[in-house]
Amino acid sequence: MTTITLVQGDITRQSADAIVNAANSSLLGGGGVDGAIHRRGGPAILADCRRLRAGHHGKGLPTGQAVATTAGELDARWVIHTVGPRYSQEEDRSESLASCYRQSLRVADELGARTVAFPAVSAGIYGWPLEDAARIAVETVRATDTAVEEVRFVLFDERAYEAFAQWVG
Ligand code: ADP
Repeated sequence: MTTITLVQGDITRQSADAIVNAANSSLLGGGGVDGAIHRRGGPAILADCRRLRAGHHGKGLPTGQAVATTAGELDARWVIHTVGPRYSQEEDRSESLASCYRQSLRVADELGARTVAFPAVSAGIYGWPLEDAARIAVETVRATDTAVEEVRFVLFDERAYEAFAQWVG
């Protein structure tokens, strides 16, 4: 049974087995939560990302997939990087956003992580409307069979927190 909890705050300050990064497919850093994780986690995370790019993920990480690295100086054992889809009004990319949560939990299970902190993937620079991003996040986690005991959504501001609270209730 997975318990879903909500916290308003900065995900880089969380203590959890794994912290999920809303990365971009280059895995080489970006803005938003990605920039914050690399800043606070230090260079070890980027070094691991570069190793992934030099090996298995030469073309980058495809949208909807997830991969783990060290968490560097963060208070976590791993960062799980997942690439959310950009929001589109022409095309329904919900399945791809749901896949980010499913694949991140699959990686967490492989690692043996029991507590996993997620940001609101795609709801920042990638433009996904918050209410819908929250619904997909919560519904997908609820529907996923995983050994993770706690999924903690860490929402940066009150608006995001309220959007998730509607679905977690
Ligand atoms: P994306 O490119 O997937 O949209 P962003 O990082 O731009 O990713 O935004 C995803 C969500 O993470 C947004 O709701 C944003 O407000 C939030 N966010 C940004 N920085 C942090 C942080 N340090 N901790 C938690 N959430 C954050």
